Amino acid sequence: MVIKDDPTLMFTNAGMNQFKEYFLGNSTPKSKRVTDTQKCLRVSGKHNDLEEVGHDTYHHTMFEMLGNWSFGDYFKKEAINWAWELLTEVFQIDPEMLYVSVFEGTDDADNLSLDTEALDIWKKIVPEDRIIYGNKKDNFWEMGDQGPCGPCSEIHIDIRSAEEKEKTPGRELVNKDHPQVVEIWNLVFMQYNRKANGSLEELPAKHIDTGMGFERLCMVLQKKTSNYDTDVFTPIISEIERLTGKKYGVSITDDIAMRVIADHVRAVAFSIADGQLPSNTGAGYVIRRILRRAIRYGFTFLNTKEAFIFELIDVLSRQMGSAFPELIAQKGLMENVIREEENSFLRTLEQGLVLLEKLMQEASEKQISGEKAFELYDTYGFPIDLTALIARENGFQLDQAGFEKELQKQKDRSRAATQVTAGDWIEQADIEEQAFVGYDELETEVKIAKFRKVQTKKGELFQIVLNKTPFYPEGGGQVGDKGILMSPEGVVIKIKDTKKENNLIIHFTDKLPQNPDQSFKAIVSSEERSRTASNHTATHLLHQALRKVLGTHVEQKGSLVKSDYLRFDFSHFGKVTPEELEKVENFVNARIREQLQLEEQRNMAYQDAIDQGAIALFGEKYGDDVRAIRFGESMELCGGTHVKNTAEIWYFKIMGESSVASGIRRIEAITGKAAMEYFESQEQMLKEIRENLKNAKDPLKAVTSLQEENAALKAEVAELLSAKAKNLKTDLKAEVDNINGLNFLSKKVDLDAAGMKDLAYQLGDEIEQLFVLLGSEKDGKALLCCYISKDLAATKNLNAGQIVRELGKYIQGGGGGQAFFATAGGKNPAGIDQALQEAKKYID
Ligand code: ATP
Ligand code: MG
Repeated sequence: MVIKDDPTLMFTNAGMNQFKEYFLGNSTPKSKRVTDTQKCLRVSGKHNDLEEVGHDTYHHTMFEMLGNWSFGDYFKKEAINWAWELLTEVFQIDPEMLYVSVFEGTDDADNLSLDTEALDIWKKIVPEDRIIYGNKKDNFWEMGDQGPCGPCSEIHIDIRSAEEKEKTPGRELVNKDHPQVVEIWNLVFMQYNRKANGSLEELPAKHIDTGMGFERLCMVLQKKTSNYDTDVFTPIISEIERLTGKKYGVSITDDIAMRVIADHVRAVAFSIADGQLPSNTGAGYVIRRILRRAIRYGFTFLNTKEAFIFELIDVLSRQMGSAFPELIAQKGLMENVIREEENSFLRTLEQGLVLLEKLMQEASEKQISGEKAFELYDTYGFPIDLTALIARENGFQLDQAGFEKELQKQKDRSRAATQVTAGDWIEQADIEEQAFVGYDELETEVKIAKFRKVQTKKGELFQIVLNKTPFYPEGGGQVGDKGILMSPEGVVIKIKDTKKENNLIIHFTDKLPQNPDQSFKAIVSSEERSRTASNHTATHLLHQALRKVLGTHVEQKGSLVKSDYLRFDFSHFGKVTPEELEKVENFVNARIREQLQLEEQRNMAYQDAIDQGAIALFGEKYGDDVRAIRFGESMELCGGTHVKNTAEIWYFKIMGESSVASGIRRIEAITGKAAMEYFESQEQMLKEIRENLKNAKDPLKAVTSLQEENAALKAEVAELLSAKAKNLKTDLKAEVDNINGLNFLSKKVDLDAAGMKDLAYQLGDEIEQLFVLLGSEKDGKALLCCYISKDLAATKNLNAGQIVRELGKYIQGGGGGQAFFATAGGKNPAGIDQALQEAKKYID
């Protein structure tokens, strides 16, 4: 469901995405005719049904699209006749219920005419009043702003009661969003490619792409009027009823909420099983928002204040697990991730409620501003429709327009930050299939097949496609190769990165060669490549080690293999202990010392590889032929680049272990030169420590004895200080003057603030009717501290706080406190003596 190599598309939104390259003629399918079912997700981009889902009964976020395909083989006649045959003869759908549409043409820039070919074929099958002429919006199919497209013929079904049909002819309701007159199948005639500049180009061959919604077909065949009444959804809805104590079919809003949850849990579960966890960016963020939408509908309408959606996974995996075994294998992970997301979003919702309450209490008028609503939404993740609902309940207005304005501002900001526009490809040589030769060579003679200019926020860059290339394109966690293109004259162009787009390998450069028609030498940076290979092989050994040490529940959940370090994410509950990490590290290093030879098998049959024990990853697409990488007992399906022998890794060192999401841990590690550099820097540090310890032979022993010595000294100092304080107190007691019947002392001491306070309190305990002012100088600053016995403060109306504030001016500072005790600080120690002298005036 998640698309990895296409910058124009985040999720599979139609059955044809995976076949795009066949339509464009960039690669050749093994078979010219295919039928399939494809999981689709329509929640972003050109096809976004999210807001409909739950409110209507026939749009889902995730659904299965059934398709039949012709890659340059059969065309309109067969596709139309077979579709009709399947629906009316095999599925026995009454032809009276069906309507079909054909493309009427446009007179806009595309200048396309009526699809007479399809029209003529349909006329032979159905009466003319069953044929509807459709406009570009309904009858010209495009997957996005660019790519293969063409006119289409849709088949619609009218499942209304005879009575309803009597009132309004079905013909009038086709493509009018009527919940019981819906499209079930779309036959697309792929003829064009929409280019970046908006123009249409004829495809090299004509193709058929059809898509029929499985859930809608079920609705028709099971004689229901809502997808949610079919057995695809009823088990989940029943479980929601059980968990929430609500009944489906009683209240409109409850029903919407239940449909939203039943739908969204599928989308989220399948995504997680496909390897896409909820997160804060990209595809992960879209998944998080889908789940939050479900949580919010439960929270608002079904009154669910605790996590419960995760409990639906059990039913879902029992119901669909036989067709999609990943739902069984990943059940625990799906439950954990969803539960965690639910708990955290429920907390957000509760915090948002508190904030909103406060906002309404403090408001001077009964209005919530667009800015405040946006802040709640943006900073706290509090959904706007919930704000609107609560506002309404409390008789408040919400400035919806103001909110939209803020939202638009934010969108503009992020669009400006990421906008990338690609120009059309400029073809150089006619090249059928582009070969990757980088497993065997790092240097190859190449020609430029095509190139294009790309405008990004940071400026302009070029993307180059070669006829063959030694450059590894980013994929399978491994970063893309860097290197150079060198012309026969020795002019060098730097290749800064290599990526895959669909099946094309694209090289990123800052400029184009003077003469793109020449032959070039493509040279991969071998230093970077060998460091990366070392890290990639190490991730395989790490994977093996984790399964050995922690158990076979460990599954790879992501990896990053760069030249300077590697990162490996995997499913495991709880922290990996230091002992376990040590075992893992030792295991990998033992495999390195065994000098295991790389055993690589290209073009192995997928099933053979699996039978031999190779590990495949969920969420990865594998063809029938795979590449298997084996080092001893570690065997994985992998397209990355590896060392020839584990000895090349030198050493494997774990640098950290952490959590990335509930039930997902991450290990970061280094190998080879990076490990050597790490040990060298550690050794250097040890050397410096040793030098600082007067070249101690055993620095550990030296440090321990320093620590012991330090503890003994500390104890001694504490003892001395307390003796000194005792002496000081005794001395000071002797200096107390009795003036006007009260005891007065003003004195400079050598103590810090805490010491002065301590001393003043102790004197106060022992001497009645006491007035003390102490001053001290610490680190260039002046401190004053005034203590007045409580009875004295009351009877003579003396206030320590006021006194230090007044005397504070002599030390250029200020302070305060209570009537019986207060302190002041200032930046003029020279004024301390005067302050002490002035103290007397308060008792005269
Ligand atoms: P609609 O107008 O009903 O949204 P569409 O024109 O978007 O349909 P297509 O893009 O032609 O549909 O997709 C082919 C088929 O896939 C449709 O005929 C329908 O059966 C099914 N389908 C499309 N969108 C959804 C969805 N969101 N949920 C379930 N099925 C869908
Ligand atoms: Mg649609």
